Amino acid sequence: MSSKFVPENLPTSIQHYIDGKFVDSVDGDTFDVLEPVSNEVYVKAAAGKKADIDLAVAAATRAFKEGPWPKMLPRERSRVLHRIADIVESRDARLAELESFDSGLPITQALGQARRAAENFRFFADLIVAQADDTFKVPGRQINYVNRKPIGVAGLITPWNTPFMLESWKLGPALATGNTVVLKPAEFTPLSASLWAGIFEEAGLPQGVFNLVNGLGEDAGDALVKHPDVPLISFTGESRTGQTIFGNAAPYLKGLSMELGGKSPAIVFADADLDAAIDATIFGVFSLNGERCTAGSRILVHRDIYDEFVERYAAQAKRVKVGYPHEATTEVGSLVHPEHFEKVMGYVELGKTEGRLVAGGGQPEGFEFGNFVAPTVFADVKPDARIFQEEIFGPVVAITPFDDDAEALELANNTRYGLAAYVWTNDLKRAHNFAQSVEAGMVWLNSNNVRDLRTPFGGVKASGLGHEGGYRSIDFYTDQQAVHITLGKVHNPTFGKQELH
Ligand code: NAD
Repeated sequence: MSSKFVPENLPTSIQHYIDGKFVDSVDGDTFDVLEPVSNEVYVKAAAGKKADIDLAVAAATRAFKEGPWPKMLPRERSRVLHRIADIVESRDARLAELESFDSGLPITQALGQARRAAENFRFFADLIVAQADDTFKVPGRQINYVNRKPIGVAGLITPWNTPFMLESWKLGPALATGNTVVLKPAEFTPLSASLWAGIFEEAGLPQGVFNLVNGLGEDAGDALVKHPDVPLISFTGESRTGQTIFGNAAPYLKGLSMELGGKSPAIVFADADLDAAIDATIFGVFSLNGERCTAGSRILVHRDIYDEFVERYAAQAKRVKVGYPHEATTEVGSLVHPEHFEKVMGYVELGKTEGRLVAGGGQPEGFEFGNFVAPTVFADVKPDARIFQEEIFGPVVAITPFDDDAEALELANNTRYGLAAYVWTNDLKRAHNFAQSVEAGMVWLNSNNVRDLRTPFGGVKASGLGHEGGYRSIDFYTDQQAVHITLGKVHNPTFGKQELH
């Protein structure tokens, strides 16, 4: 392989993991997995289809109906989850190395994501035992309480940006609450998902609780969504795919959680701390190669500071260090795949006709190969431009001026998406009022992407359906059965006179 760096002991094949065993596809089919610096095939992965999903769902159903996992006490499950977190932590460097190699993410950022994956497990391990019972009493009359029950086989479908961490986000709460799972990871980056199998075995997760089927979305993903024995689907990916899944799951009335795309605005008012705003908005769109759902990819700047902002922002974007993903100094690595590279470069070329190019605009010097893209900044972008409206999912940002608060809000809300918004101002009232009115599932005021794991995560409009995170995840992965007991004399209520409490 002509890549500059190849991790030691790379697997020679990527298989499914069903009922505690690594297996090939029933029909023996495979697909090529590329390494994003050289774009060469480095491994073949099993290409799952309906037959493989059927086997995985059957194993997960057996483990749910007959196995110990759903019946275990929360603290017993919690111990397994803590062991998982310990193992992930102890292997963070290896996980980061493999993830960075497979996805093109800078190694330091992949390391942060591996540690976040461990934190996700630890968080749900703690939450599941600390969770208060929902019990409601009317003294002397009645007690009502809520039985939280695992639902069954959870279908988890994940994207290729930060794959291992995003898988942990779903696996943590799905397993903590006693469900069994079938994971269908993204076909561009299947490497890290199979590492879960060894980690779970070592931590003592019972056989059949975790199942993994690799494959294309239209084959394996589609079969999982349409499987009648999978009552809930947690999906993260593009809004368009979310629409398809929504339709396919409708006949089964499945529980759906959808974390979808974004085109999030960062709004910089004239009174903002400009140094902080520039640093944060640079990080907000160029970290994780710009392949970040919450990327602040539209920057709206008050006209009084617009020229200064654009000049300083462009200068700083040019200083962002593009490099090989495995090098510790790299800030922007390689995009994940040549198909995605073509899509992003298409927007870069389009941007040259829709805005004023002030930084980047092609491949960076010394990296005129593979899937590298220079941090690219377009100024004076009009709201009807496609680079203002559409998710690019790469290191490309559009800057647009505004004249007053009302126009800032109108521009911020002027896309089909509503995932995140970032507000930069030193006026407390303006910040909170803006948060109230902006159409976004998450708002960061003078800050960037720091999030306590207890808070909900999710978008509005085309950015999602439902929220995960903290208790919302527990709600999604459990049935909440209400149980009512009368403590006093049981009598037949006369119609019309029934007491309500
Ligand atoms: P994608 O929608 O192409 O694929 C996501 C997953 O869905 C993959 O595993 C794919 O194989 C599968 N899939 C595709 N078609 C399917 C079908 N018909 N039925 C079932 N499964 C199917 O998304 P992607 O390109 O992998 O990821 C990038 C997108 O994910 C971006 O839009 C990004 O904003 C979004 N994203 C959102 C969040 C969030 O939390 N809101 C987080 C990360 C990424």
